[in-house]
Amino acid sequence: MVELKVNCVHCGHSLMNNRHKVDGYPGIEFVIRHHDKVWRLYLSALYGSYNIDCKWGMPKGTIVRFSCPHCNADLSSNALCEQCNAPMVAFDLTSGGRMQICSRRGCKKHLIEFEELDVALRSFYETYNTFFSSVPGKKEK
Ligand SMILES: [Zn+2]
Ligand SMILES: [Zn+2]
Repeated sequence: MVELKVNCVHCGHSLMNNRHKVDGYPGIEFVIRHHDKVWRLYLSALYGSYNIDCKWGMPKGTIVRFSCPHCNADLSSNALCEQCNAPMVAFDLTSGGRMQICSRRGCKKHLIEFEELDVALRSFYETYNTFFSSVPGKKEK
């Protein structure tokens, strides 16, 4: 299985939490909101695993708002889920590229903008990452 490592698209901070493991790997940490309630949610970093850890037993079908535990930015993307029309949630893969998941509990739709890096893509994304890390105020990875 592939272990994903992801960063916030806004502040660039890693979303991996080494102290909070899911499936034996550092969990991907988010702050989630539903109405006026706030919880921490940890997703499995293993690609293809849908295991999560959350104190709230989110009912299936619930749409939650995801935000970054570091900068608090809303992580919803402009895209809507092709299967259920809920907003997609976006984060950056540290290896380059972007991943999106559906914000509706129980919907398994997710997109990785590329799954297998070939050499051309890799060099394209290295250029792209360099471009972003040179933006003032953007944290170095
Ligand atoms: Zn952030
Ligand atoms: Zn969906």
